[in-house]
Amino acid sequence: MCHGVTRNSTDSNKRAATEPEIVQDEAPVGEEAETQGASDKKERVLHTRVPAVLERELKRFAENLRVPVSNLVRAILEDAVEAADAATESVEGRLTKAAQQIGIGREKLKKRVMPDPLVDVYAFQAVTLAQPATCAKCHKDLRSGERAHLGLTDAPPKTPAERLFVCGTCLPHG
Ligand SMILES: [Zn+2]
Repeated sequence: MCHGVTRNSTDSNKRAATEPEIVQDEAPVGEEAETQGASDKKERVLHTRVPAVLERELKRFAENLRVPVSNLVRAILEDAVEAADAATESVEGRLTKAAQQIGIGREKLKKRVMPDPLVDVYAFQAVTLAQPATCAKCHKDLRSGERAHLGLTDAPPKTPAERLFVCGTCLPHG
C-alpha cells in the first residue's frame, strides 16, 4: 500500500510542472524493514513534489543540522502526524502548517532529528584546551588555550574526535 501526500493549495498545483522533485531514497529501506516483520517498523519510501522554495529551505535546514534531508523530512512528518492525533486535526492540515512553520519549530525539530550529543555525559570537567576543539553542542570552534568543559562518559572516547567538549554557553546550568 502506498501513502501519498496531497496538497490542498490550488495555486501550488499550478506550479507543479516546474517544481523539482526531492527523491529521498535511502537504499532499500522498505524491503529491509519488511524482513524484520514488525508491522509498526515497516518503512516505505515516499515520493512527493514540493515547491522549490520549500526544497531550498529543507536543504538549508538539513545542512545546518548536519543531517540528511530525508531524516529531517521524516521528523517533520512524524511530528505533524503526532500533533494531528493530539488535536484531532486533519493530517493534511497539519502538514501544511508544518511546512509554513518550519522556521518556528526549528529547535524542536533539531532535538528530534539530532540525538543529544551529551546524553551519556555524567559530569563536566573544566579544562584548558591544549589543542583546538569544537563545541559538541553548538559546533563553535574552540582554540588552544581556551577554557572549555570536558564531558565525562562511562565509555571513554576511542578517538580524539569522540571527545566531548562544550563551550561555556552550552554548559548545562543547574
Ligand atoms: Zn557551545
